[in-house]
Amino acid sequence: MGTTVSAYAATSATEPLTETTITRRDVGPHDVAFDIHFAGICHSDIHTVKAEWGQPNYPVVPGHEIAGIVTEVGAEVTKYKVGDRVGVGCFVDSCRECDNCRAGLEQYCSTTGMVGTYNAVGRDGEPTQGGYSGAIVVDENYVLRIPDNMALDEAAPLLCAGITTYSPLRHWGAGPGKKVAVIGLGGLGHLAVKIAVAMGAEVTVLSQSLKKMEDGLRLGATDYRATSDRETFKDLKSTFDLILNTVSANLNLADYLGLLKVDGTLVELGMPEDAMSVPAGALVFGRRSLAGSLIGGIPETQEMLDFCAEHDVRPEIEVVTPDYINEAYERVLASDVRYRFVIDTASLRS
Ligand code: NAP
Ligand code: ZN
Ligand code: ZN
Repeated sequence: MGTTVSAYAATSATEPLTETTITRRDVGPHDVAFDIHFAGICHSDIHTVKAEWGQPNYPVVPGHEIAGIVTEVGAEVTKYKVGDRVGVGCFVDSCRECDNCRAGLEQYCSTTGMVGTYNAVGRDGEPTQGGYSGAIVVDENYVLRIPDNMALDEAAPLLCAGITTYSPLRHWGAGPGKKVAVIGLGGLGHLAVKIAVAMGAEVTVLSQSLKKMEDGLRLGATDYRATSDRETFKDLKSTFDLILNTVSANLNLADYLGLLKVDGTLVELGMPEDAMSVPAGALVFGRRSLAGSLIGGIPETQEMLDFCAEHDVRPEIEVVTPDYINEAYERVLASDVRYRFVIDTASLRS
């Protein structure tokens, strides 16, 4: 049974993604079915399909920044109705019973772990498949409401890039009087700048070059430095309360830890393939912390969407058709994205 929908899938680490069909489960009593209108391209999609985080279960339909409109709801569904504008982020289920799930920190589910939107296995034992497709069926408790004044294509990137940066900014207290640095001005990075500025923090961008400086300042940063210039690390020594690292490749973390004030924290958001080493002295001198943060839970994701709606925070996007996905991947890998590709999935809807 189930419904057949069109999708773009990766079949190996080296072949381009191609159009295919997948089956979505029948709508259960607690399920919401929705037509996908837009899906963002996250660098995590690329890490996954290129097997940089281990061998995925091909075929993989990536996409965990999903926005669309409800077409059907199960008999017991109370939160959504047909026609509602909704989104789904990086996970579609979790155990719902552990302390973390009960606290709305489903991404840190301590028993089964969160069930990823793709490349995971759902309760029905079937592989999950993501947003590069025409429709999806998800339990209502893992669906977000997109605010009325937010366009669906602009909402999509918030479901991963938005919450991944919002959550640590909140947790580590970004706000007035705090100096925040964002390393890497890509999908996550540009939203980190906008959200931190909206929270009232003073923001510096640390990018490989000064190529995107005009953009960074327009997004609200007050300073923009090239990390290819060694002077940057001397000038900004012991400056920041909080640094978010959004870079998808390895960095010399000691250099960046040196930019923290005493008691400052560098939060690792990027997840490069290989381990990074940290000399103890980079932490010890200055009582500095090195931390990590994974997306955000369902309640905080809704809070983030509402915050962005209220503070007029939107991603800068380039909308593309599905046949452009492979080229978009190449451009993301070349840091040639301003600042998130979003797939218009119209051609995949029936
Ligand atoms: P992205 O759009 O490709 O942005 C990454 C940015 O990092 C680039 O724009 C570039 O910025 C910088 N960069 C890339 N290669 C670099 C290198 N070799 N050296 C220095 N800087 C480099 O990627 P994204 O979608 O924002 O994702 C970023 C990372 O976060 C990925 O590893 C992704 O898997 C991870 N992620 C983690 C979470 C989480 O929950 N923790 C959630 C989503 C994504 P400049 O051009 O400005 O230097
Ligand atoms: Zn993502
Ligand atoms: Zn749990």
